[in-house]
Amino acid sequence: MNKEEIKKLDQEKIVGTYSRYDMVADHGKGAKCVSVDGKEYIDFTAGIGVNCLGFCDDGWVEAVTAQLKKLQHVSNLFYSEPQVKAADLLTKRTGLKKVFFGNSGAEANEAAIKTARKYGTTQRGVHVNKIISLANSFHGRTMATITATGQEKYHKFFTPFLEGFKYCEANNIEQLKSLVDDDTCAIMMEMVQGEGGVLDLDPDFVKAAEQLCHEHDLVFIVDEVQTGIGRTGKLFAYEYFDVTPDIVTFAKGIGGGLPIGGVLFGEKCCDVLKPGDHGTTYGGNPVACAGAVEVLTRIDDAFLKEVQKKSAYLKDKLQTLPHVTSVSGLGLMLGVSLEGKEAPDVVKKALEEGLMVLTAKDKVRLLPPLTITYDEIDQGVEILKKALS
Ligand SMILES: *Cc1c(COP(=O)(O)O)cnc(C)c1O
Repeated sequence: MNKEEIKKLDQEKIVGTYSRYDMVADHGKGAKCVSVDGKEYIDFTAGIGVNCLGFCDDGWVEAVTAQLKKLQHVSNLFYSEPQVKAADLLTKRTGLKKVFFGNSGAEANEAAIKTARKYGTTQRGVHVNKIISLANSFHGRTMATITATGQEKYHKFFTPFLEGFKYCEANNIEQLKSLVDDDTCAIMMEMVQGEGGVLDLDPDFVKAAEQLCHEHDLVFIVDEVQTGIGRTGKLFAYEYFDVTPDIVTFAKGIGGGLPIGGVLFGEKCCDVLKPGDHGTTYGGNPVACAGAVEVLTRIDDAFLKEVQKKSAYLKDKLQTLPHVTSVSGLGLMLGVSLEGKEAPDVVKKALEEGLMVLTAKDKVRLLPPLTITYDEIDQGVEILKKALS
């Protein structure tokens, strides 16, 4: 099918939950994507932070296809090697104890919320079920996770919501303290609010949240769905903040492009969920886990150092561009604030010129594959410069 045929059929047959950009992706390699009409693009999106090794990385394709030829699925009623290998890597790298695998970020956060509530209600009484999340956060699209999401625009149309969520302004330690009461079971937050506009949290605030969790026996949940798996230049962004969460949720980057997410549990919560408490048919699927094992093996300390170097290089370049007032974020998760230009217009113009980029609130958001080369960064920035002038 050609571009116009695909677009027409999409508009007729696919539910319009997304207003798509004017590009039909066909194939890709690394940080380059080619559309069905043969145009080449530099990719600063990584499929919203998913393709951490870029498009069709050789090692990843090999790992995934080898598993695909052996066993594609068996369900969680049986043991399988890729799942335990992925869990072993995640726990060894973090010091956290156990993993639950699901299929997406929202599901990971659902599992975290259920675990926190079971912990609170079984340890301290049925009323201990309230969760504090942050204003301007994003935790997913299911009923529980849109409730946890502290943004009104996601709350339209879907009442009634779950009970038991309270929202704290990001970086407001006094408000956070005042919101914790006898009914609170957990505090939940992203280290860098992604959809909220690539906003890094204040380290003092994150530390205060951890402290409150210690004092009141609350579950400290860190949503690393976007920030995790090397995106910020550490395996998980909480490492920058010198805290130890009780629960870490992850998804986007872990499968290198396959749908997989999950939850890491520390000592406090690793045995809270018992047989029958939670489950998922696909979760920890062998093919997705083979992708995760390859990703986790590749993202070693030297790789992470390189992500940090590329981040500094890209940040420096972005700061010199016209209309750019500041650059936020960590690692290769960057938000570009503009003056005198609107982010959606810039994204559209950049795409016309051959660069895929994203927005987050009023910023241009960059989430390039972690394997992007310096040359590709240069090419992308040149196009962005054109789009800004
Ligand atoms: C994307 C995202 C989610 C939701 O993940 P899905 O896989 O789309 O369900 C949750 N939390 C954060 C921080 C995210 O960026």
